[in-house]
Amino acid sequence: MRILLVEDDPMIGDSLRKGLRAESFTVDWVQDGRGAELAVDTTDYALVLLDLGLPKKDGLAVLHGWRQRGLTMPVLILTARDAVPDRVKGLDSGADDYLTKPFDLTELLARMRALLRRQGGRARDWLENGALRLDPVSHTVEYRAQPVSLSAREFAVLHALMEMPGAVLSREQLEDRLYGWGEEVESNTIEVHIHNLRRKLAPPLIRTVRGVGYRLGETG
Ligand code: CA
Repeated sequence: MRILLVEDDPMIGDSLRKGLRAESFTVDWVQDGRGAELAVDTTDYALVLLDLGLPKKDGLAVLHGWRQRGLTMPVLILTARDAVPDRVKGLDSGADDYLTKPFDLTELLARMRALLRRQGGRARDWLENGALRLDPVSHTVEYRAQPVSLSAREFAVLHALMEMPGAVLSREQLEDRLYGWGEEVESNTIEVHIHNLRRKLAPPLIRTVRGVGYRLGETG
């Protein structure tokens, strides 16, 4: 799942990026308001973590601009401005949630999950497709009630397919989910992950739609 981190403090930004990557998020990190605008113009994000005090353009102004243009991705504000008027202003500008620094990574992750669930219209964390069950919180997959061991990227590919049952995802869309900026995309890597998933689960589970991409089939 690809998210945008907007944070000008290098230490906070670096530690957040590391923590989020350890949770299998693909993280793009920008350090000013203009960079945030550019990133959202060019990339589709599942969620944005937004600091408010930013160089070049204030976080609230950036957020206000996105909402005025009708962009609906969840935005979670991370800031040291803990005064009540600032919180109210943030929520009024279109933020979905608000976390005051310093905060605990586990609380941030829980709030992110809640926003992503709400966005997906799901009440529970885990995803199911026939005999296949995926839990994004514990990063576990079960097939026919047996645990399946997957690498972080195999998990991310399966997660993307299970989030949109029936939809065909192109190789480029899957690569977008797996790789952040500056990460080298190896050729054929998606094909390798799909091959491994088929081997570990069941061959007909992931269907190839020729010339288009992949989709999840029915599992018994
Ligand atoms: Ca700041």
